[in-house]
Amino acid sequence: MTQRTVLVINSGSSSIKYQLVDPDQGTSLAVGLVERIGDTGRIEHTYNGEETELDVPIPDHGVGLRYVLDLFEEKGPNLAEANIVAVGHRIVQGGKYFDGPAVIDTAVHQKIRDLSPLAPLHNPAHLKGIEVAMELLSDVPHVAVFDTAFFQHLPAEAATYALEKSVAEKYEIRRYGAHGTSHQFVSQTVSAKLGRDDLKQIVLHLGNGASASAVVNGEAVETSMGLTPLEGLVMGGRTGDIDPAVVFHLVRQAGMTIDEIDNLFNKQSGMKGLTGRTDMREIAKLIQEGNPDARAAMDVYVHRLLKYVGSYTAIMGGLDALTFTAGIGENDAKIRTYLCDRLAFMGVKLDEEKNQTRSKEPRIISTEDSAVTVLVVPTNEELSIARQAMTVI
Ligand code: ADP
Repeated sequence: MTQRTVLVINSGSSSIKYQLVDPDQGTSLAVGLVERIGDTGRIEHTYNGEETELDVPIPDHGVGLRYVLDLFEEKGPNLAEANIVAVGHRIVQGGKYFDGPAVIDTAVHQKIRDLSPLAPLHNPAHLKGIEVAMELLSDVPHVAVFDTAFFQHLPAEAATYALEKSVAEKYEIRRYGAHGTSHQFVSQTVSAKLGRDDLKQIVLHLGNGASASAVVNGEAVETSMGLTPLEGLVMGGRTGDIDPAVVFHLVRQAGMTIDEIDNLFNKQSGMKGLTGRTDMREIAKLIQEGNPDARAAMDVYVHRLLKYVGSYTAIMGGLDALTFTAGIGENDAKIRTYLCDRLAFMGVKLDEEKNQTRSKEPRIISTEDSAVTVLVVPTNEELSIARQAMTVI
């Protein structure tokens, strides 16, 4: 079969991440990042192990993407030879409209725009990427792949906030979830690895942003992120679950504005708020040095994970597979040990040797007699986006 590729684009307000993926082989051919758009501008493009860096003024997304296409031509791989069959765009918020990937036409474009109030930082930035990419790569279909799609059919009791009904309806307030592409990819990988679809699974996506999901027979039944990615687990800079009355308290007692609280909850809190650091490697070092704040923060982090694993197990009426993914989940053996030790009452038993072994492959890290299979599965959102795009073109 001749090679086919998908260009995966994740466009932010001042950046464009891209990757050229072979969806059939599951390989990445080239990867890059355009950053500081509208400012000083910088591009990194990696192909065949060779990294090219370019510091050039990039006034807008269109100029940025043009540079990227030039880099493909100069440094490779040659896009004409790579046989691009689609461009896959990562979209954070698909609201109630999208439960799967969608070929971008005028109506889909308009829906993504209409959903901007639910993702004011993300959807408008995605649209910029879509518009310039559709102009520059006009002879292939462009597909939107939504972070929320995997959670579109959450059971109503999981998706619904106990908020006055007419307000919730008018403003489309429900639990949409996020990181869906990763949870879907990882839970499917677990099913393939264990050779079973009839599984009760929990996936813990622990990166800078962090989320948990409960998946029964391949369908998501719960997830920790809500209307926005603020709800749920303790994250690098986000609070995760917090009493909403803290907002009223800060407005009334501290005189803070809504924007200040938004910034506080989304950027200055979580592990950063508790320790001054967002990176778990640095926090682990602080713990080793005996820093009491870092130790206490780790306890909060693991306690929250434990709460979610316990509640999701109860919701599913059992647990077959518990999987760790993303930067922390894939690399931090200590956190896996902390959590699994607390789950010993459920019959969870880690094989510490397997837990300490590093690998890029999906792997089981529990003992054979563990009541729950514990796995580490590297997530690959770009490959998932590319494969989802292939299903609709
Ligand atoms: P995101 O995509 O949400 O930005 P990632 O999934 O790339 O995040 O995860 C990034 C985080 O992973 C880092 O902030 C760091 O805390 C953590 N991390 C990466 N490598 C390691 C490691 N070897 N040990 C512990 N934590 C790690």
